[in-house]
Amino acid sequence: MSNKEQTLSIIKPDAVERNLDNQIKKIFLSNGFKIINEKKIKIEKSEAEKFYKVHETKPFYDDLCSYLSSGPILVMVLEKENAVLDNRELMGATNPKEASEGTIRKKFGLSIDKNSVHGSDSIENAKIEIDFFFKD
Ligand code: UDP
Ligand code: MG
Repeated sequence: MSNKEQTLSIIKPDAVERNLDNQIKKIFLSNGFKIINEKKIKIEKSEAEKFYKVHETKPFYDDLCSYLSSGPILVMVLEKENAVLDNRELMGATNPKEASEGTIRKKFGLSIDKNSVHGSDSIENAKIEIDFFFKD
């Protein structure tokens, strides 16, 4: 039985700023993901606060929201079987220093905050996050 899923991926400001978006897209494509939808946008801090609301009690919340709204981002809907977990694996650990060889964050991440990519962490959150950016 097909287990096709969609997940939300964001190429964050640090990576877009370094013109890494095409290189990162190629990594997704060569790992079996289809890019179903994409847009390059710059969001307001208030939108970042909504997107990352789950983290609102964390000490890094304010900096995180300032950062995500600091420059252009590339938002994508990725699709494949097991897209959510496979994308998390391909991204690597939140802290690039702890990310495995071959992962996107290991290759491109600068620090725990400037870690180049976002990926949904569950099927349920993927649906919410895709709606957040692509529901018209
Ligand atoms: N983050 C941070 N400091 C921390 C933990 C997280 O700046 O100590 C940032 C980082 O950019 C991370 C985002 O907050 O990607 C969301 O954190 P989460 O724990 O959800 O990590 P992710 O799901 O992105 O791996
Ligand atoms: Mg997360």
